Amino acid sequence: MVPFINIHTHKPDTEHLSILNTVFDGIWPENKYYSCGIHPWDIDKTVIEQKFEILKKYCEQNKLLAVGEIGLDLVIQISVEFQKEVFIKQLEIAEKYNLPVIIHCVKAWSDILSIKKNGKHSAPWIFHGYTGNLQTANQLINAGCFLSFGAKLLTNQKVQDTFKQIPIDNIFLETDDSDIKIEEIYQKAAELYDICIDELKSNLYQNFITIFGEQCTKNG
Ligand SMILES: [Zn+2]
Repeated sequence: MVPFINIHTHKPDTEHLSILNTVFDGIWPENKYYSCGIHPWDIDKTVIEQKFEILKKYCEQNKLLAVGEIGLDLVIQISVEFQKEVFIKQLEIAEKYNLPVIIHCVKAWSDILSIKKNGKHSAPWIFHGYTGNLQTANQLINAGCFLSFGAKLLTNQKVQDTFKQIPIDNIFLETDDSDIKIEEIYQKAAELYDICIDELKSNLYQNFITIFGEQCTKNG
């Protein structure tokens, strides 16, 4: 049976095919797949080198399915230049270990697009919690990126209108840190695309295989 896929969550979810975002505490709650990365909110100069080393170690030990969430956030107080430095360094780690990237982006679309265009990044990028407009979505898709939608898809008209116009081959769904069930987000997404849940599930499953490969689908 084709599973529901929760591409980005902060809460262990063994019921579905899910990628659990862990932090640098060495604790691995029960889940099959994990992502880890230095979130722009958690950038701290004093421990940054240490975190890079831990991240590399996790990659080396094959603990991660993706690097993330990492990215840029222009509404926080941390210098954009330093955020970029940390982001790019982690993109390089992801490249080295051939891992897809889960991206957190707040008001930094053009910065991230230019990093994408100027760098040699072959690992797939997934923008999580996408709430941008259609024009940006198209630019990201043309650059080979995937967009993941979460709780806002249930309530935000603007996000819904954008979502409807995005090709199904470029999307994922997620619960992030909300308590909403991934089934509920699938339900809404199917409604918006005007297709049945099974069709949506098999499409997103294909997207998952495209990025992570067939060997990563063996959990329910
Ligand atoms: Zn998150």
